[in-house]
Amino acid sequence: MQSFQQYIDGTFEDGAARFDSIDPATGSVWAAMPEAREDDVDRAVKAAQRALWNGAWPAMTATARGKLLYRLADLVEANARTLAELETRDTGKIIRETSAQIAYVADYYRYYAGLADKIEGATLAIDKADMDVWTRREPIGVVAAVVPWNSQLFLSAVKIGPALAAGCTLVVKASEEAPAPLLEFARLVHEAGFPAGVVNILTGFGPACGSALTRHPGVDHIAFTGGPATAAAVVRNSAENLATTSLELGGKSPFIVFADADLDSAANAQVAGIFAATGQSCVAGSRLIVEASVKDRFLAILKAKAEAIRIGAPLDMATEVGPLCTRRQRDHIAAVVAVSLEAGAKLVTGGRAGEGGGFYYVPTILDCDGVSAASVETELFGPVLSVLSFTSEEEAVRLANATPYGLASGVFTRDLARAHRMIKRIRAGIVWVNTYRAVSPIAPFGGYGQSGQGREGGLAAALDYTKTKTVWLRT
Ligand code: NAD
Repeated sequence: MQSFQQYIDGTFEDGAARFDSIDPATGSVWAAMPEAREDDVDRAVKAAQRALWNGAWPAMTATARGKLLYRLADLVEANARTLAELETRDTGKIIRETSAQIAYVADYYRYYAGLADKIEGATLAIDKADMDVWTRREPIGVVAAVVPWNSQLFLSAVKIGPALAAGCTLVVKASEEAPAPLLEFARLVHEAGFPAGVVNILTGFGPACGSALTRHPGVDHIAFTGGPATAAAVVRNSAENLATTSLELGGKSPFIVFADADLDSAANAQVAGIFAATGQSCVAGSRLIVEASVKDRFLAILKAKAEAIRIGAPLDMATEVGPLCTRRQRDHIAAVVAVSLEAGAKLVTGGRAGEGGGFYYVPTILDCDGVSAASVETELFGPVLSVLSFTSEEEAVRLANATPYGLASGVFTRDLARAHRMIKRIRAGIVWVNTYRAVSPIAPFGGYGQSGQGREGGLAAALDYTKTKTVWLRT
């Protein structure tokens, strides 16, 4: 059985307690993880505080910080295979996806490496003749980065990259469901040569370790990705340390197809949009909103494509859909599909768990037209597409916005004027037109409503890890 360590103050430790990690493809224990308790969290935050104010890190030029980040990006690339295999093993996410994602994780570190020495203050044209006044952008402080189990290397890169570029220090909490890739990534942080305490990486259970971290008085900013209920707990915790927060939460993203769209291309995007990562993606296009006149044709194309998907072992390069991360998640999906069918939704395809001991659920499409189905409202985080139809643009907008979430959306049409109208009216942080799931370090990413606040990616994200100091100098 493999065994992992936590990384606190530049040292790898076993931790006082350990817990088992399950392989979702088999349902068996495959690794032992260190369980950080309150005193581990305290030591990690204190190490991050020391590293913020003393020693090599605050004395380093921004250019030197950037060079360390470039080195880290190179190490991520050089170790891509190991990282991808560990992520696949621990989360069940297929090796094709984890391998592809690692390549752009390195890109995110390079983007923020390049930004490190481009974070600038301003000289103010002050209304006093005997004063020079300017602003400095200083690190916001100690950052608590809390991430969920899906895409941990990516979801932590969008926090660690800008935070380090800005000169912050961090305590990163990996998800207890699948911490292996982040605990392994700690070795690369160490090898890159970041001073001790600048990046600390641990894992443990949310209500204990996550809570201790997010209410710790030494934390200045909390960068959280996860579900809305956990986010509410994190915000309540932040009332104790008055840390600022950025929240990247769930979604129930609309995927809108007009009759004039290229239906085959839209179907490919829809299949990838909902079944990639076995639907365990915050931007999953989980509500298809299709123009009624093409609904039957579009569903026939989707059904054929969904049924052709190769379900299998996540470490096999030929596999297109793997298991869900946990048994609990698989059972939750099965329960919501069952009540939706009872409420009158029609099964187009799927609707059952896979065979064997792993946590598989077959790609599923539910026609929910005219039905009040739980699958339309609930973020399932699984391979289940709920279908609705519309007869007017007005109705498409109403259905798209009929959710407390607002993370992503897709619009498929050849009518450019209509696309522009939809872009303005959809309440979501991302609108993809005639494409879906494109991401880049250059583009901001984040939600409206229950999908969160703050943006990750882009220059503004690096500035979010700074605070402004105003300097008054009598001349
Ligand atoms: P979760 O909210 O259960 O857990 C997220 C993290 O919070 C974990 O590390 C967990 O240990 C920690 N946590 C739990 N309780 C805590 C507490 N009381 N205090 C502090 N930390 C605590 O989420 P999950 O089930 O692991 O992941 C799925 C959710 O994440 C979905 O809602 C999904 O949409 C969302 N997500 C959002 C994005 C995005 O960028 N918007 C990306 C991926 C996933």
